[in-house]
Amino acid sequence: MKPFFLPPQVQNTLKTLENAGYESYVVGGCVRDMLMGIEPHDYDITTAATPEEVKNVFASERLILTGEKHGTVTLLKDGMPLEITAFRCDGDYLDGRHPSSVTFTRSLEEDLKRRDLTINAMAYSPAAGLRDLFGGREDLANGIVRCVGDPKERYDEDALRLLRTLRFAVRFGFSIEPETAKALHEKRDDLQKISRERVREEMTGILMSDHILPVCIDFADVLFAAVPELAPMKDCPQQCIFQSYDVWEHTLRTVMACPKEPVVRSAGLLHDIGKPATRRRDENGADHFYGHAEAGVRLADSVTATLRMPKAWQDEIRMLVRRHDEMFTPDDMLLLLSEIGPEKARSLVLLHVADQAAHSPLFASKANRGLQLIDAIDQLEREGACWQLSQLAVTGGDLQAIGLSGPAVGDTLRYLLEAVVRFHVPNDHDLLLEAAKAHKERTVDAFRAKES
Ligand code: ATP
Ligand code: MG
Repeated sequence: MKPFFLPPQVQNTLKTLENAGYESYVVGGCVRDMLMGIEPHDYDITTAATPEEVKNVFASERLILTGEKHGTVTLLKDGMPLEITAFRCDGDYLDGRHPSSVTFTRSLEEDLKRRDLTINAMAYSPAAGLRDLFGGREDLANGIVRCVGDPKERYDEDALRLLRTLRFAVRFGFSIEPETAKALHEKRDDLQKISRERVREEMTGILMSDHILPVCIDFADVLFAAVPELAPMKDCPQQCIFQSYDVWEHTLRTVMACPKEPVVRSAGLLHDIGKPATRRRDENGADHFYGHAEAGVRLADSVTATLRMPKAWQDEIRMLVRRHDEMFTPDDMLLLLSEIGPEKARSLVLLHVADQAAHSPLFASKANRGLQLIDAIDQLEREGACWQLSQLAVTGGDLQAIGLSGPAVGDTLRYLLEAVVRFHVPNDHDLLLEAAKAHKERTVDAFRAKES
């Protein structure tokens, strides 16, 4: 077995608690990660001490007490926040979301029993070694996600665990143990009891994972119970020589080909959500989806609003869904920058290419074309290319000097920017000023002449 390495802050904290007479362990995600050879992103401590007792032990240290009613005291140990939680057993769950009471216990076993998955229910301390009461280590070695105890009961207690189970399966590429799998399908409708914010967090976690196929196909019904608008994509055929998959599988493959950013991956999930409603089969048996991007915007809006995504995410996802199907060449990138700025332009290009590459294995090489577009954006930025008014070689002051005033100044600046970004006119002071004069003659002067 790999030796566990604990940072000195964690070792010292465990030792201090043990010396005060309280059995203590690191627990959950960090133990799982260490067994997998992954460096934990944080260390949770579980202890026989109650929160009061923890506060006494660390009376002279910096403590954060926001989680106290759930049994958690956070210790700031040499800059490292450590959540120290009393061994707990949860009371009955009456609403499928929250335990009706939390009881502290002196038994590690009770505490591990309330945890969701065997791979998350292991504890370790240098004094006692690994405490693995439910076969978590073996499940980890075999790549299996399994509930602690009776899966149906565990999902009845807390329906969020349904999505957590999927999230851990797709994060590590694990398979789901058959009894757990059966309960997932059976209990899926309980997801309606969960707050939309929690659903969003778990869904985002799922989308950001490496192994979403095949779990999201086998357990699509569970995801659809969480986000019903997605359901029509499953088994929606795409009869077309360049499409190998139904809309749902194509969607999942697109998500996997997207960069790991929540907004882009969420847009990947939603980009074709308008396809089922717009599908038309022609006389040759081929499917067409005219207007699916626009139709998708309405459904995507409904999903992002229901899941209470931040407003900026909602706006960007709407743009990405609306424009995902546009075709681009490197020459179009300047215009795209002027329309949506460099960050969103990169997101749109990467989504577009992910979508293309996910049509069929034939198209996997499309990724190269995407890189050319990204290179073009990088190069424009490096060169300091002009894509916004503030970068134009002509200013409002220059235009006033040739006799323009009022709204005509802004109008003319936008006209010049349009010439630069759409028609690749050089961003040259003299040239643009000449163009501005000519424009003035054609518009403002001509208008004045007519008036007089
Ligand atoms: P991550 O690396 O994503 O943080 P983690 O295992 O630490 O993984 P957390 O959500 O931080 O996951 O939860 C910490 C631990 O608390 C889990 O390992 C698990 O033992 C327990 N846990 C968390 N949520 C639940 C839940 N809804 N039901 C039961 N146990 C839970
Ligand atoms: Mg954690």
